[in-house]
Amino acid sequence: MSQPAHVAVVGAGPAGAALAYLLARRGIRVTLIERQTDFAREFRGEVLMPSGIDAIRQMGLGAEFDALPQARPQAIDFHVHGRFVRRFALPDFMEDPPRMVSQPRLLEMLVAQGEACEGFRFVRGGAVTDLIEEGGRSVGVRLRGEAPEEIRADLVVGCDGRGSVVRRRAGLDEPRDPESFDVIWFKVPLPPQVGPDGAVQAFLRPGQLCLALPAFDGRLQVAWLIRKGSYGDLKQRGTDAWLADIAVQTGPEIGAHLIRNRGALESPFVLDVVCYLLERWTAPGVLLIGDACHPMSPVGGQGLNIALRDALVAANHLVTVLEAGAAPEALDAACAAVQAERFPEVAEVERYQRMPPKVVFRSDWWVGAVLWLAAGLARLGFPRGRVALPPITRTFLHGVTDVKLEV
Ligand SMILES: Cc1cc2nc3c(=O)[nH]c(=O)nc-3n(C[C@H](O)[C@H](O)[C@H](O)COP(=O)(O)OP(=O)(O)OC[C@H]3O[C@@H](n4cnc5c(N)ncnc54)[C@H](O)[C@@H]3O)c2cc1C
Repeated sequence: MSQPAHVAVVGAGPAGAALAYLLARRGIRVTLIERQTDFAREFRGEVLMPSGIDAIRQMGLGAEFDALPQARPQAIDFHVHGRFVRRFALPDFMEDPPRMVSQPRLLEMLVAQGEACEGFRFVRGGAVTDLIEEGGRSVGVRLRGEAPEEIRADLVVGCDGRGSVVRRRAGLDEPRDPESFDVIWFKVPLPPQVGPDGAVQAFLRPGQLCLALPAFDGRLQVAWLIRKGSYGDLKQRGTDAWLADIAVQTGPEIGAHLIRNRGALESPFVLDVVCYLLERWTAPGVLLIGDACHPMSPVGGQGLNIALRDALVAANHLVTVLEAGAAPEALDAACAAVQAERFPEVAEVERYQRMPPKVVFRSDWWVGAVLWLAAGLARLGFPRGRVALPPITRTFLHGVTDVKLEV
């Protein structure tokens, strides 16, 4: 009897860990390769939208997901020019509101589910450095690590994130335009006025946007958008100076809290924001999904959700072909079908992701005027009751296409 098909999945982020589990539970041999030994060493966003939560529930892992450390904010508070404007209760707009979830724990949970399946192998701490090529086709990967090895496979799926080695080695890299902004991230203790399941705080003024979210670990996650390349100047001015800038933006209460907790500021770092979409996600014997083919901006908290949805669609197209013996032409056609199905949603989401920074960083007079007008209307109580969500919000919450796991 011939060997069952074998897939090498490179990278155990949400895309790779989810896909590896979905294939393994259908009896397909999978090797999942992750360069880190500890998931906490790779920073990811923590916001899961209803679309991502739905993907996990479709995988049959709803109970395991609900048991993970998480914060469930109940509202969004909007502040304009440092003044509180309006609170919007999230349950008024959606049934399963976004949650902030521990990414290391989510990934450990997905890998543990995979490990319970026969034929699943997890290589922890092994970095893929190259593809094995034969007859114009990739037939496996080379690993560097404690035990360097070659892993041969019918298909290599690159889920190795924004700096993907698989993408580069498969010749799928493309030139791209840089985004106009970066983001400074840090955590501080949670202020009493926010609380563990309290409100997300959004601070807006022309040229500035800052978000503060209650995180899964009982702290406050702060994300501050800055003009691209301006971090060098901020760093030179020192933490006290840029914290004072944020404090002006966030108004007296949160601002004072940030400055008081300056010493407890945890792991501040700057995210070099990239956002683009490859024209080609496949090469003979190779498929890319997740950030490897569409690195996402943090705007709208989309990357994790889109990565999970990619995994569901990839499993739908790949399982039958792998079960039927993994003929190379059929596999390549299935990979092309994954791209064809996912491309429109990713393109639409990234189009929306580029919009808010473009408006925020404009210095035109009308941006300030629109903000004042919106703040005035919101204070007067508009909109009232349950309203239809604008397309950008609907897209960020629920995605664009209907993604259903079929295998
Ligand atoms: C600061 C920040 C905040 C964000 N906020 C949010 C948010 O709130 N909500 C949201 O939905 N998205 C957010 N995102 C985006 C989100 O984290 C990514 O879009 C998502 O993690 C992509 O998943 P992925 O599985 O494709 O890739 P990744 O999560 O990047 O995983 C790739 C994995 O591959 C491994 N790897 C890389 N190279 C190799 C190699 N050569 N060999 C073996 N393994 C390798 C890496 O160690 C990593 O574990 C944020 C991103 C950042 C950086």
